[in-house]
Amino acid sequence: MTTPRVEVDLSKIRHNVECLVRRLSLRGISVTGVTKAVRGNPSIARAMLEGGATDLADARVSNVERLRKAGARCVVSLIRTPMLSQVDQVVRSCDISYNSEVEVIEQLAVASCRAKTIQKIVLMVEMGDLREGLMPEDLGAVAQKVVEMHGVELKGIAANFACLSGVSPDVATMQNFSDLSTETEAVCGPFMEIVSGGNSSNLQWALGPWSTGRVNNLRLGEAILLGRDPISGDQIGGLFTDAFTLVSEVIETKVKTAHSPVALVDPTSRLPRLRPICDPLIRSIISIGRQDTDIDGLTFPPGMTCTGATSDHTVVRSTLTPLRLGNEVRLQMNYSALTRIMSAPDTTTVFVGDGNRTRVGSIKRSGPSLQLV
Ligand SMILES: *Cc1c(COP(=O)(O)O)cnc(C)c1O
Repeated sequence: MTTPRVEVDLSKIRHNVECLVRRLSLRGISVTGVTKAVRGNPSIARAMLEGGATDLADARVSNVERLRKAGARCVVSLIRTPMLSQVDQVVRSCDISYNSEVEVIEQLAVASCRAKTIQKIVLMVEMGDLREGLMPEDLGAVAQKVVEMHGVELKGIAANFACLSGVSPDVATMQNFSDLSTETEAVCGPFMEIVSGGNSSNLQWALGPWSTGRVNNLRLGEAILLGRDPISGDQIGGLFTDAFTLVSEVIETKVKTAHSPVALVDPTSRLPRLRPICDPLIRSIISIGRQDTDIDGLTFPPGMTCTGATSDHTVVRSTLTPLRLGNEVRLQMNYSALTRIMSAPDTTTVFVGDGNRTRVGSIKRSGPSLQLV
């Protein structure tokens, strides 16, 4: 099989969604499967729906269009506020868009009237992450404006956490967010159907011992795909962390000694320099580089360490079995590595495993688990 390739075990993704859906449903919270990290891959999206996700969401219109071309008929939301230049594509392919600019909503309204459709609007509220969202004090007035526009329909509110700040939401903040849904209804009338509380970093909160108020939805990507809490990187109890494996190939293996041309490099050079090599070492090169993925987000197999990487090469040392030319090297990825490899043009995606073969008992526990109810 060709390399580099990403092997995806859909049954593990399905299992992860099932597990999260089951636990969150006890709290009255639905799961929206976020496909942006896998560029809207239709097979992975289908696994999310089969596992019980009620709908899908992506940050890019092109990914939503990819899902539609593959036949996805479920509700798909655009969770990055639309570009003014893309409103026509948005109303054509996305049922719902998450918005934080009135001007964009006005243009969406015009575009939906043109296309004889209705765009559903979720208003994004800034709750402390300082990425996107309306300031809470502006929410009521904007909601009122949306309600008065033709071509759009106000469906709810949403907040996002821990994307820019790396801080997970606290109980008081989430209570404030929940209260905003009631306050908005009081100002402008329509029932807030969607009160979407955040992403994978909200799971600790959503499954904790406190009230989740009116929050009735989470948008989950990383927890489903990688089975990990985005903030701590810890495995979420009962979920698979290895649904994705990056397979790369050894293209050189040699003993390299201290007498390295690196020592001759001009000391004022801005190029990164390797430390001088003291012992003769077997070094191998795998055919993957910084242009393909986030090399720092890879986990190498036991006994193998990464010495350095450039755009197309990654140099590794193996202390256990020496690597031979043509050997395949299997790597695990964090979220950053996954998002990049899934859009790398030279990488293929192959699906392994099937519906029923993966048993829950085979979940590897690599670290402390998140406490879930
Ligand atoms: C990426 C994203 C999500 C999903 O985040 P995960 O950490 O992958 O669960 C949810 N909402 C918004 C607005 C996002 O941009």
